Amino acid sequence: MLNLGCHLSAANGNTAMVKTALSIGANTFAFFTRNPRGSKAKKEDPADAAKAAAMLKENGFGKLVAHGAYTMNLCTADPEARAFAAEVLADDLRRMTGLPGNFYNFHPGSHVGQGTDVGIEYISAALKQALSHGYPVTVLLETMAGKGSEIGGRFEELKAIIDAVGSDSLGVCLDTCHVYDGGYDIVNDLDGVLAEFDRIIGLDRLKALHLNDSKNPFASHKDRHECLGQGSLGIETFRAVVNHPALKDKPMIMETPNELPGYQREINLLRSLES
Ligand code: FE
Ligand code: FE
Ligand code: ZN
Repeated sequence: MLNLGCHLSAANGNTAMVKTALSIGANTFAFFTRNPRGSKAKKEDPADAAKAAAMLKENGFGKLVAHGAYTMNLCTADPEARAFAAEVLADDLRRMTGLPGNFYNFHPGSHVGQGTDVGIEYISAALKQALSHGYPVTVLLETMAGKGSEIGGRFEELKAIIDAVGSDSLGVCLDTCHVYDGGYDIVNDLDGVLAEFDRIIGLDRLKALHLNDSKNPFASHKDRHECLGQGSLGIETFRAVVNHPALKDKPMIMETPNELPGYQREINLLRSLES
């Protein structure tokens, strides 16, 4: 069975998210560990987390894919802001202890003119420090569209971070909109792109997917998500993804412009595409 879900609001706690997921036929989900456009985090509720963890197990959920805040830039130029971002990362990983054994995905960062190598160095140092605590979470670097000075638009950049950190608790979340916008042609050659991923990073590091269509054409480096089947990727791409032996057992999260009924439709659609 495919593990499908979408971003859910964490505002009412973990148990509420599991209930919402169940109500739309999801068996995984994503949530922001704190305000996605700020840095404020909710007070932790261990009893609620324990109840949610039991419900996830009972209902056979796949691994969850928490998402770090968009504002967390581990390679920003200002040293104080950079140190704060690194603290936020470490605190996010600690917070995952409430729902142990899941994934935490984040955008590697933007080097804002300092250069890719410097950016990779800062990101790797922050990750190394945050992972040194050994919290029960696997951290995933998201494949990016390569917008502006974003790091992670090339598989080589993610590989450089993984090598510099040297941890088994570090993997990759592949975002279909981002890789296509980034110049990897999963529409015409999904096998070729995955072969390249395997050659450069290794498919054993691929842990989760974001399923998004794209509002923009191939290699546009734009990053604007579209509902599945309504953008430049098209429904046949998603049919190929959910049936691909290297992908079909991974948690797949939609970040499409939808409310809950739309997500429920996309989950049903994807399940109908599975052969
Ligand atoms: Fe993301
Ligand atoms: Fe994404
Ligand atoms: Zn995106």
